Amino acid sequence: MFGHVDAGVMHIRPAINMRRKSERKKIRIITEEVVKLVHSYGGVLWGEHGRGLRSEFGPEIFGEVIWEQMCNIKNAFDPHNQFNPGKVAVPNRTFSLSTLETTTRGEYDERTPELVTLSNATRCDGNGECQSISTSDSMCPTYRATDDPSQSPRGRAEVLRRWLQRIEQTPSRKNASFIKKLFNSGNEDDFNHEVKHILDGCIACKACATECPMQIDIPAMRSQFYAFYFTRYLRPMRDTVWL
Ligand code: SF4
Repeated sequence: MFGHVDAGVMHIRPAINMRRKSERKKIRIITEEVVKLVHSYGGVLWGEHGRGLRSEFGPEIFGEVIWEQMCNIKNAFDPHNQFNPGKVAVPNRTFSLSTLETTTRGEYDERTPELVTLSNATRCDGNGECQSISTSDSMCPTYRATDDPSQSPRGRAEVLRRWLQRIEQTPSRKNASFIKKLFNSGNEDDFNHEVKHILDGCIACKACATECPMQIDIPAMRSQFYAFYFTRYLRPMRDTVWL
């Protein structure tokens, strides 16, 4: 649990594994208890994040009168419910609010192969600490130099997560033949190359391994990715030629 005590805002982050169906069921139980608790203190359920997913509690938290007005505003600007449908308010009662049973990222992650180090990418909660520009933080030098979100630990973890979702099974550790590697390497339209390109930019300073609240260790994951990558593709000459 963390938050902004001065503003009275608390973030509740239950330690549950969203990759497991049995664990995901706890979200509703916990949320309903939190709603009751917050209500008993006259508070509101949302301060910053996650309000869309918990929209079904809007009428209860705001009260029918305020919530009705929110729906009127939604109706004025988005009568066909096209912008973020189901989130926070709806134009009229024919549309439904999002519920906690919405598909979550954990469900996609559940289908990804369990690769001990690489699956740590799925632990990134998107907190964005790695995209800080404060001079007191050292994460992440490549993001600061490029201003490109894909060149931050969060961006790299997200790309690895997508890569894990795309590969249907644990990639083989068996080395492809030289001819096969040559053929694979020539195929430029390949997501593996895009992932590698994004990971290549990491300078392995290891700041993310220690400063990230989730300790997303990009260099460790990159090593594992490379181990798989080079079973399919040729290594660059500079990896093998010594001057
Ligand atoms: S190790 Fe790589 S991803 Fe992590 S902070 Fe350093 S440059 Fe960024």
